[in-house]
Amino acid sequence: AKAAGRNTYRFFEVAMAETARSRVRLQQELGHALAAEQFTLHFQPQMKLDTGEVIGFEALVRWQHSERGLIGPGEFIPVAEETGQIVSLGNWVLREACRLATLWPEALRVAVNLSAVQFRSSSLIELVDEALAMSGLPPERLELEITESALIEDHDGAQATLMALRSRGVRVAMDDFGTGYSSLAYLRRFPLDKLKIDGMFVRSLDSDEDAQAVVTAIISLARALHLDTTAEGIETAEQLVMLKALGCDDVQGYLIARPMPSAEVAPYLTRIRGE
Ligand code: C2E
Ligand code: CA
Ligand code: CA
Ligand code: CA
Repeated sequence: AKAAGRNTYRFFEVAMAETARSRVRLQQELGHALAAEQFTLHFQPQMKLDTGEVIGFEALVRWQHSERGLIGPGEFIPVAEETGQIVSLGNWVLREACRLATLWPEALRVAVNLSAVQFRSSSLIELVDEALAMSGLPPERLELEITESALIEDHDGAQATLMALRSRGVRVAMDDFGTGYSSLAYLRRFPLDKLKIDGMFVRSLDSDEDAQAVVTAIISLARALHLDTTAEGIETAEQLVMLKALGCDDVQGYLIARPMPSAEVAPYLTRIRGE
């Protein structure tokens, strides 16, 4: 048993060393990728439930790796957050999303994900102003998605940042709502525009009564606070019907469309208008 324990220990030691090495490599590669502009944005439509019209797109970053192909954000955003590289990557995303949105044939909204680190950084408002000025995108067309973790540490700072964004006309959505630290008590304090209901709850809507209860609660909370609701990760027609019955405002998910390159946005809009 002792030997087995030692072997297990050695196994973890080796695995951890390998993880650390691949982290360092990833960090170096990320730095290079930023300089070489190897990132690209895909856009996923958000649809209004009562009319079926597309109201905007969420920008989702991908890494066009020279050897490994297209890498999803789940693989590199956490590392970029740890190393601080998220600030420059995030700023690139913000600028690029604003720029690309101005090329769309309709004045639809573009939603951009912000890491907590970005949201809390003192340069955020300045960078948002720059991205809007450089692109010429009207502030009303920009929506920033933040997570509960962005708000928990410094309530006054977060409130000031949200007020500054609001005064410009930029909208703010609370992403992954229901999965984070419960900021329920503070929610009222913060000037938000929207709650995004996490796909985790949406996925189990048809099978799990607890998920239904959670979604119902989030929607009534949002109503009470005069916030919009977007359900994400919607994959089935059953989920769509249920969300509509529960009074959810908007939906986003593979059922509507998968995230697409910016060049496909115009043809997509033409196609759905023709339907
Ligand atoms: P998120 O903000 O919750 O984005 C939704 C994720 O769900 C996206 O994954 C999207 O492709 C995926 N998705 C959309 N519809 C469906 C569906 O019907 N079913 C399923 N199973 N998945 C669906 P993606 O693009 O891999 O992004 C993962 C996460 O990475 C995002 O979650 C967000 O937290 C983060 N992320 C993406 N882009 C950025 C960015 O530019 N900046 C920052 N800070 N984070 C980003
Ligand atoms: Ca998001
Ligand atoms: Ca989300
Ligand atoms: Ca999520």
